[in-house]
Parts: sequence; structure tokens; C-alpha cells
Amino acid sequence: FMIKSRSICNGFATFDGDLFNHMVRVLRLGHGDPLLLVDESGVEYEGVINQVARDWVVVKIMASPKISTITSAPRITICQALPKGEKTELILQKGTELGVHDFWLFGGCRSVARIREDQLTAKLERWKRVTAEAARQCGRRTIPDIKWFKSAKEAADLADHEVRLLLWEGERTNRLKQILTGHATPASTIVAIGPEGGFDPLEVAHFSSRLFQPVSLGERILRTETASLAITAILQYIWED
Ligand code: SAM
Repeated sequence: FMIKSRSICNGFATFDGDLFNHMVRVLRLGHGDPLLLVDESGVEYEGVINQVARDWVVVKIMASPKISTITSAPRITICQALPKGEKTELILQKGTELGVHDFWLFGGCRSVARIREDQLTAKLERWKRVTAEAARQCGRRTIPDIKWFKSAKEAADLADHEVRLLLWEGERTNRLKQILTGHATPASTIVAIGPEGGFDPLEVAHFSSRLFQPVSLGERILRTETASLAITAILQYIWED
């Protein structure tokens, strides 16, 4: 279970809300059942359920904390232009399950959906709940971080990843297979994906100036959410631990 380190006090931790529900109602854990808690910096605590009340549960920490040895290599950042409607949440949920390290969402020139400044905090909170829930559901030990950028340029300027890919529907020469074949697992990878209307040439120029390599996923034009999830699955498969 993903927890906040501050929830542990004198060898005990009390949980209510979502964590209580997941432990007691969904997994039906009860007194004496063992469980593993992992905090935001990857420190693991072995515990057992010590007390179950109507809407909270107490866990007793049994062993000294350890740094988790499970990494989520390869570290993939999905740099996704804001898509329409519920697609953002779909990408966040499924991408978290597939192992995305973090998400950079940006307002693409051709994004139909827009986020006003005054909506941003609420949106980010909602998106973070989606990734937290997906991480908990699939047993991941870290929750992917989510950043918002107003434009492709803002995001491109900040990218310093070892491998930078631009999934571009207009690319005719560079195929993913050629780029990845024989490439050792990089320390970090970022992949930019356009919105429903694709990338504007100016955005392609920004990403290219920041050494993003334009790459084609083949002849078929995939929906933005398909492209996002397909590239994650491919990179995880090729560069998994
Ligand atoms: N109109 C469809 C939709 O509603 O989602 C397709 C949109 S496609 C233009 C969206 C993005 O997916 C592109 O900007 C690109 O990043 C990626 N993409 C889709 N198919 C691709 C391909 N064959 N090669 C590279 N990137 C692709």
C-alpha cells in the first residue's frame, strides 16, 4: 500500500478513507494479516493489521524500514498534448498500470480541450487521484508525478531525458524499430504525443530543436490515446528490467 511517511508514528499507522476501504472492504484484511507499506520515497515497512474499527484500521510496523529495491526502469515520461474529454484520465490510468514514470501534460496548438488557469488546481487534484487509484489497484510502489505545461515549447524546453522521442504522424523515414534496436536501456526517456489534430509544424520544430527524434509508429494513424499507451507498452517490453 502506498502511504505517506508521516502516517507512521511510534511504530503504528492509522488509516481511514480510501486506504481503509481498500484494506478492509476490498481485500478483506483482518486482525493479524500481514501487509507491505511503501512511502513516497520508496521506503518499505512490513506491518500487520493490529485493529479494525468501523471506518479506520491500525497497522503495527513489524520490521525496520528498507529502501525498496524494485525500480520502475525504464523511466518513461509521457509528454501528452491535452486530448478531448475523458481521454486524459484513460491515458493516466492505463499509463500508470503500464509503468509510466511520470506524465507531462501540455496544451497543444491543436488541442480542442482547454484548461483555464482557475481550473488547473482542481484538474491536477483529480488527475492525481486517478494515478493514485491506478497505482494502488495494480500494486505499483510509486505514484507517477503529473506536471502541466501551457505549451509544447514549455515542456520541450524542460526535457533533459537521455532519449527523447516525438511520435509524429508526418514522419516518413524514422521507424521506431530502427531507433530502438540495439539501444541499451537509457536512464530516462521522454515521448511527446500530439492531440487529436496532430502536431503543428511549429511544435515539431520546438521539439526537434530540443533534440527530440521524430519517429513513426507505422502507416496507420493511431488515436492519440492508443499511441500513448502503445509506445509505453513497447518501451517497457524492450527495456524492462
Ligand atoms: N484523429 C485521431 C484521434 O482522434 O486521436 C488520430 C490523432 S493522431 C494525429 C494523434 C497523435 O498520435 C499524433 O500527433 C502522434 O503523436 C501520434 N500518432 C498517431 N499515429 C501515429 C503514427 N503512425 N506514427 C507516429 N505517431 C503517431
